[in-house]
Amino acid sequence: MASTGTAAAAVPETEVALRSGGARPMPAVGVGTASPDPVAHEATKSAVLAAIEVGFRHLDTACMYGTERPLGEAVAEAVRRGLVRSREELFVTSKLWCTQCHPDLVLPALRQTVENLQMEYVDLYLIHWPVCMKPGPIAWPTRREDAVPFDFEGVWRAMEGCQRLGLARAIGVSNFTTRHLDRVLAATIPPAVNQRTLRAYCAGKGVHVAAYSPLGGQDWSREGAGSAVLGSEVLAEIARARGKTVAQVSLRWIYEQGVTWIVKSYNKERLKKNLDIFGWELTEEDRQKISKIPQRKFLTATALFSPEGEFTSVDLSETDIVEE
Ligand code: NAP
Repeated sequence: MASTGTAAAAVPETEVALRSGGARPMPAVGVGTASPDPVAHEATKSAVLAAIEVGFRHLDTACMYGTERPLGEAVAEAVRRGLVRSREELFVTSKLWCTQCHPDLVLPALRQTVENLQMEYVDLYLIHWPVCMKPGPIAWPTRREDAVPFDFEGVWRAMEGCQRLGLARAIGVSNFTTRHLDRVLAATIPPAVNQRTLRAYCAGKGVHVAAYSPLGGQDWSREGAGSAVLGSEVLAEIARARGKTVAQVSLRWIYEQGVTWIVKSYNKERLKKNLDIFGWELTEEDRQKISKIPQRKFLTATALFSPEGEFTSVDLSETDIVEE
């Protein structure tokens, strides 16, 4: 993607520099591969291939999503078809799962990830959650009794080791609160990215923020909840006036806030439209209207666990974020 050059001052370049030494700049927009329900290998492969074809260069996966292998196959296929010259043109993020958040399991986990991807390295490796579970197979939801204390310093040292070996070009965190970030910011290689919005704090510390679920996210709780973003009448009105979709208005607004995003779509037309947020701007009046929409941000790590059982050795309440 080229920089638009016509953007307002607040708009970032279409790539953001990360402070990690060997990392290539991170494309400001990316495509995600998480789904609450299992998705066929081929469906993920063809969606990632379609994403590369329409112009996405930033691909987000995680060992927990089970999408590393099809994503890697799609990248190899994209190179074969000449959609990109080489894997180097793509920015690939993957994540360390909670059962792997033990100092001696970090490097083996990343080795497995790069093997799944059939790549030499990932561009960005994130600690998926500030939650540690007993080692074992990846299951979701998991037993509350399996949550154990997190050795932040030890795990982060192992992440630094991964970067030094070149298996991860940059390292970062996801779903971390300021309290968790403080535990790793004193390290030799501080996190380059936090995949969550704690903007003021992160800006002051030189940590780049990437937003996931920019369209309001998928129905992980299976409560049939509609998206407050895609269902917003304010956004719909702005979209009609600008000749854009609600998703484009929402994604453009996030981008204008200086936050990069990862959106998931397995539909080629929607992928193409989601990328079409450059070369036009919201008006000041649009921005005012959007900023007045009541927001509710709610996230809790307890959603990773079955409702039954007890947390016997950790207090997960410090991972909760509720912003009204
Ligand atoms: P999202 O991107 O906000 O929403 C995805 C949903 O919106 C999908 O159901 C998709 O359906 C639909 N959609 C996409 N484009 C659309 C459009 N233009 N119009 C209407 N509907 C559209 O939510 P998300 O998947 O939760 O988040 C995105 C990615 O961020 C994930 O896939 C994952 O890679 C990452 N993520 C990371 C974390 C973390 O803990 N670090 C957590 C959650 C997500 P179709 O596929 O049918 O288009």
